[in-house]
Amino acid sequence: MVIGSGIAGLSFALKAARTRRVLIITKKEQAESNTNYAQGGIASVISPDDSFGLHIKDTLDCGAGLCHTDAVEQIVKNGPALIDELIDLGVRFSREHGRLDLGREGGHVRKRIVHAKDLTGKEIERALLHQISVNKNIRVFEHHSAIDLITEHNITKSKRIANRHCYGAYVYDEKSKKILTVISGVTVLCTGGIGQVYLHTTNPVIATGDGIAMAYRSGCLIGNMEFVQFHPTSLYEAAGDKYSPQSFLISEALRGAGAILKTRSGREFMQKYDKRKSLAPRDIVARAIDNEMKKSGDKYVYLDATGIALKKLKSEFPNIYEKCYSVGINISREFIPVVPAAHYGCGGIVSDLNGKTSIKNLFVLGEAAMTGVHGANRLASNSLLEALVYADKAGMICSNPSIKFRKPNQLKIPDWDSSGTENAEEWVLISQNRTEIKQIMFNYVGIVRSNLRLNRALRRIQLIMNETEVFYKKTKVNRELLELRNMAQISYLIIRSALMRKESRGLHYSTDYPDKNRKYLHDTIISNKTV
Ligand SMILES: Cc1cc2nc3c(=O)[nH]c(=O)nc-3n(C[C@H](O)[C@H](O)[C@H](O)COP(=O)(O)OP(=O)(O)OC[C@H]3O[C@@H](n4cnc5c(N)ncnc54)[C@H](O)[C@@H]3O)c2cc1C
Repeated sequence: MVIGSGIAGLSFALKAARTRRVLIITKKEQAESNTNYAQGGIASVISPDDSFGLHIKDTLDCGAGLCHTDAVEQIVKNGPALIDELIDLGVRFSREHGRLDLGREGGHVRKRIVHAKDLTGKEIERALLHQISVNKNIRVFEHHSAIDLITEHNITKSKRIANRHCYGAYVYDEKSKKILTVISGVTVLCTGGIGQVYLHTTNPVIATGDGIAMAYRSGCLIGNMEFVQFHPTSLYEAAGDKYSPQSFLISEALRGAGAILKTRSGREFMQKYDKRKSLAPRDIVARAIDNEMKKSGDKYVYLDATGIALKKLKSEFPNIYEKCYSVGINISREFIPVVPAAHYGCGGIVSDLNGKTSIKNLFVLGEAAMTGVHGANRLASNSLLEALVYADKAGMICSNPSIKFRKPNQLKIPDWDSSGTENAEEWVLISQNRTEIKQIMFNYVGIVRSNLRLNRALRRIQLIMNETEVFYKKTKVNRELLELRNMAQISYLIIRSALMRKESRGLHYSTDYPDKNRKYLHDTIISNKTV
């Protein structure tokens, strides 16, 4: 069973289906995923003036000392072959004079971003979903949400975590409102990111960290949750107090093409923060914008793309051009108002070089994983690459017919027990708690942190967690409630990890440890020993 239908889940499923039957379950429509919104592209060494060494160095530099070198080398060296494979599967990347057109993004010293205009993710989803639809070994269940993993603790009630296996998951079918017991030789979590725990995020509404929360509840190791990447430039759109559940991303590629950050008074400011100016890595740009906004009291800064030719804007950034135009901004003549928004979770379920987790027969791929590739900060466009490479590695293992996966006697697995639960009357509790979590996380656990704010956030999140757990135990399951429970747990994990890291590093910046005197050169690992 594959849980999730983004790039990680789909590319893994196609490989595993060479020898196995695969069920993909996915929370909403099959294309709805972070993957579908990826704009910039996939980083890979294609250009003759580029090298694996340079891509590896850029990734390690950005990761601020925490990347696992073996994991970085693995994604970089396997990239070109997997780009070729995507092309063979029907992905239509942009080309110039017949060759792949390579973009450049922040932190990359060479042009190496393979893209499909500024709609790369959508094109990848389209091609992979088409391949899935014609593959007889793969079935897709839309509108099915995984609730919890099935391990020994459901069967024998054993609390022992060592030597634990995953046998599948309990899955909520949104249409029939039934809970299925799905038993599987291998379970692969491809559930994507955590952006929705923040008020402003570029992630779609599915990104509530479900896979990470489920794995944590089952006793899996979770790592580096404090490293949340804020994309420096999302379109600022506000109508009174109302915010959009998903902020529109203004891709870094626009800065790569020459767009410049300016204050609301029209002054350039990035030269004060980094010699790479507007093309500095994302954490530096996001903190610079945060600082300029705090100094001026402005709610946004500007991105000036007026120096880029209209023809280029329309041909290379059609999505951004049209979105801005639809809200009354002609980006060839007017500046774009932008704010930072939560974009990517570098941490997640700890995985080895093949996507294996600390629970047997449970794999994790894509954004839900902590492979060590991104360290304390992800280099732009390395995440689609990471998902592809790890899906390939796990796919090779799972499609190997000589490997047998342990299945329990199906009769011993108990079905979901919903006795004693009722339909909730107080739905306002869910929406109120969801909004509170998002505000607490954005205001206290955002780009710049302090122990005072983190402890304050922890107290409030623990209260919400406890309230939600009580509500959950007496209420019939539905997607909103499952998401709220997971969001509270993800927030808790981010705050706990942030409090454990007593230094500023990469994406974690604390005013209590502002100096660069870094002492804690290790991953922050948390496990739920109470399962
Ligand atoms: C706006 C935007 C732009 C980006 N641009 C780039 C870029 O240019 N280059 C790059 O490398 N990266 C980019 N990223 C990051 C990248 O898109 C993601 O990291 C990557 O797509 C994650 O893929 P995934 O398969 O791990 O997860 P996703 O694509 O997010 O898929 C997760 C899947 O899991 C399903 N799911 C979640 N919970 C459950 C549950 N409980 N039960 C069942 N199903 C569930 C979801 O419905 C979804 O199908 C961007 C991200 C965003 C949001």
